[in-house]
Amino acid sequence: MIVPDSVVQPFYLTGSPEHSQPLIRGRLVRIFDPVSAIFARHDYPDIVSGLCAETVALAGCLAATLKFDGVFTVQAKGNQLVKTLFADVTSDGHIRAYASFDEDGIAGKTLNSPAQIDGLLGEGYIAFTVDQDASVSGEKAHRYQGIVELAGGTLGDSATQWFRNSEQLATSVMTIAVKTEAGWVASALMLQKIAEQGGDLSENISEIGAGRLDAIDEDDLWQTSTILQHSIRTHELTDTDLSASDILFRLFHAHGVHIQTPLQLIDKCRCSDEKVEMMLAGLSAEQRASVADETGRLVVNCEFCKAERIYDLTSFQD
Ligand SMILES: [Zn+2]
Repeated sequence: MIVPDSVVQPFYLTGSPEHSQPLIRGRLVRIFDPVSAIFARHDYPDIVSGLCAETVALAGCLAATLKFDGVFTVQAKGNQLVKTLFADVTSDGHIRAYASFDEDGIAGKTLNSPAQIDGLLGEGYIAFTVDQDASVSGEKAHRYQGIVELAGGTLGDSATQWFRNSEQLATSVMTIAVKTEAGWVASALMLQKIAEQGGDLSENISEIGAGRLDAIDEDDLWQTSTILQHSIRTHELTDTDLSASDILFRLFHAHGVHIQTPLQLIDKCRCSDEKVEMMLAGLSAEQRASVADETGRLVVNCEFCKAERIYDLTSFQD
């Protein structure tokens, strides 16, 4: 069995194969081996892995709608069984994730994806953060953050709400995560109306010249596309015999689907010996002594990739 690539696949819809003006933009995320590797290391209960995998798919989907060099983070905070869901993705497609939760309370709960977050996270919020990397862009490093309150439903529903509140763009986001015999699969499918651009005259003229095409009813296209989006079945999204573009052609072939360049997603943490050493060197001798074990070792575990780094207290000097 060949597992398809783990990608964010951007696409757009023009309404019909005869039309050429993009009216809806979309992102299809499918992640196979990288999420399996992440959640094999974490060894969370399935319900937590599933929710966290949906968070990863959501992060990949939203990151691909933004132009940035750096890191995009989705962080959900709840006050019930699940306290934190965290996933980030770099503009190079490196993904990582972790969750924190009430181990006793969550025991026995079963995964049902897309997960209804009401009884799991309860009240809280989701924050979407862009950390623009100064070294890459040559500009000043800066951070942009958007926050939306959790309002029940699914993680996708909260993201949809965020776009409605902040960007005033008709957006529809769905996420799923399932555990198959081969491992985890996380997927997200997003559609977003493209804001009116004031009309591209040259294109209109060529279209009229080409055969007097009827104008596309954009509201009608939006309604049909979102119905198709929600008609997709979990087994199609997780089918390893289908590529992302196969799925999109199946769903939207009648609506002028155009496939763009995909971004590969890779299981890769951003922690490094250098960063950990700098962090430890930045502590006072007293602080280092207070976190060392009885044999004078400093053990630093990465909460994302589980890498363990061990240092000797005596190797640091003030
Ligand atoms: Zn790490």
